[in-house]
Amino acid sequence: MQNATNGRTGRNGRAKVLAVLRTPVGGCSVALLALVIALALFAPALWGDQASAVDVDAIQQGPTAAHLLGTDSLGRDVLARVLVATRLSIELAVTATLIGVAAGTVLGSAPSVLPRWAGRIVTSAVNIAVAFPGLLLALFFAMIFGIGAEGAVLAIGLAMAPAFARLTQTLSAAVAGQDFVAAARVAGAGRVRLLVRHVLPNIGEPLVVNATISAGMALLAFAGLSFLGIGVQAPAYDWGRLLGEGLNQIYVNPTAALAPGVAVMVAGLAFNLFGETVAGVVGARASRPSQLKDSATAAAAAPAAGGGGDRPVLLVDDLRIAFPGPAGRPVTPVRGVSFTVGAGESVGVVGESGSGKSLTALGVSRLIEAPGTVTAARLEFLGTPLLRAPEPEVRGLLGTSLALVFQDPMASFNPTQRIGRQLAEVSEQHQGLSRGRALDRAVERLREVRVPAAERRARQYPHEFSGGMRQRAMIAMGLMGEPRLVIADEPTTALDVTVQRQVLRLLAQVRESGDGSGSAPAALLLISHDITVVAQSCRRVLVMYAGRIVEDLPTADLHTAARHPYTRALLAAVPALDTDRDAPLAVIPGRPPEPGEVTAGCAFASRCSLADERCRADEPDPVNVGAEHRVACWHPQDSTPRSRTSSVDTTTAGGGA
Ligand code: SF4
Repeated sequence: MQNATNGRTGRNGRAKVLAVLRTPVGGCSVALLALVIALALFAPALWGDQASAVDVDAIQQGPTAAHLLGTDSLGRDVLARVLVATRLSIELAVTATLIGVAAGTVLGSAPSVLPRWAGRIVTSAVNIAVAFPGLLLALFFAMIFGIGAEGAVLAIGLAMAPAFARLTQTLSAAVAGQDFVAAARVAGAGRVRLLVRHVLPNIGEPLVVNATISAGMALLAFAGLSFLGIGVQAPAYDWGRLLGEGLNQIYVNPTAALAPGVAVMVAGLAFNLFGETVAGVVGARASRPSQLKDSATAAAAAPAAGGGGDRPVLLVDDLRIAFPGPAGRPVTPVRGVSFTVGAGESVGVVGESGSGKSLTALGVSRLIEAPGTVTAARLEFLGTPLLRAPEPEVRGLLGTSLALVFQDPMASFNPTQRIGRQLAEVSEQHQGLSRGRALDRAVERLREVRVPAAERRARQYPHEFSGGMRQRAMIAMGLMGEPRLVIADEPTTALDVTVQRQVLRLLAQVRESGDGSGSAPAALLLISHDITVVAQSCRRVLVMYAGRIVEDLPTADLHTAARHPYTRALLAAVPALDTDRDAPLAVIPGRPPEPGEVTAGCAFASRCSLADERCRADEPDPVNVGAEHRVACWHPQDSTPRSRTSSVDTTTAGGGA
């Protein structure tokens, strides 16, 4: 069935591409470009002799039967010279464009691999260069590189580079935010590898589209430089040079100037229209449902890195994550989070959107990028202080022992690489396996997570997998080594209930038996907005609100001993079997505060019916109220069976937990 879907998808994609090519613009662009290329290839052989034949008896003639567009100052045939000049004109324009794209891509990518200070210098230089008109830059460089075709190629190429650098920076920033890049980063990929393997392949198409359009602009720029006498020098000639010569005799034979001008215009049009057509084709392909817009997960893993006995797998103490806010005031969406995850333990984190649960996971995984800052009294993974240990050590540790499963299944895989290759990369990098052995291991792992026809599937691309299958594949990626901790951030949100259950069961199985080869069981940190998902899958629950943990208790006690008004409100908002189906769904009134809106006192006070002066003045710290039970509330409620006795009014609005 999947194959049938893939087949249909492929046919639909081809049909859309053909539809673009059949449009007037598509048809014209292909025909014009074919004509220009054919002339560039064959004109010198066909009309080369005629173009260079001097006829002193026919100097500066107008159009005649022998010379359809007349002759130049040496009696040479203008039409033949214009046709023959196609090759050099196109060669120079394409070479300059290639230089521009290459230099621009290097400059645009440099900030992501250089130290931050050097990256800033490059970015500032690009910003300044972009502010100058391209032709002005080209003239500036032409003066530096000297008069002649080589100097003009370099000048125009370098003048195009800033625009491509800016484009590369923008496109790279968009791709760098994708989950598959985060997953690769956790897998230990260095900056250069991230750039080369994951970012650049995904920005290739828009770069090609822009390069095609820019080739037309380069053609015009060349004509301009040659016309000014600082481009191609005699005896060589391109359209710009012919234009300059033709203008000298414009009153005698206007066609001598008109013909190269028309040639520049037609070729420029061919490149521009072709660029538009390529953009249309890329757009048609991107609109296929399989591209980058589906669902899924991400992961990384390999050999266990110690961490046995009673030592927690993860120890988080007073974790704070801050970002620069408006007016220079930092906002702190994670404010002093503390918890531990024991070996093989399953811990759930619940809370409404914006409570800081996903950011906490990113902070723990070292995935918060500057200008965000992560601080903690202690942040240890398998005993290694993540904030103090040397970067290579941390990268190696996370890459071998931490697996991530993200919410967006499609965005979590690199769409340009086959699934098997992406899995195998983890083992190649961290376990030193050969390409072949790493691929065998990838197939083995896909089989373990019950991906049917694993060998064939390993050769497929992410878009050929269904959402549930991609989740499995990402979990398989986590199993390429021996993960000691699996962090799953809303792993089932995009899936239907049946697949959701399968994925949760698979995660539970991974937790209980590691990678299935007798290795140590992995701990699970499951993040979800759905308290029932967490209750089904975890031994302990952390309830987060406005960047803090407000309650931490065993799942078994959730319905009978939850004491924080917010936890109770979350539970009350979940329909039970005995819920009156005719009654409106209960929700928590109001909304959580934005990180910049948190003021003194309990952040839940505006939504809590028990709030008093003390609540509004001081924020309560978590205190132990029982074995493995902490709650941060000045008025924790009594342990009572789950009921609709929430201290929060439940209303009928949509949303809730
Ligand atoms: S009772 Fe007070 S401290 Fe407790 S949740 Fe309500 S407002 Fe916050």
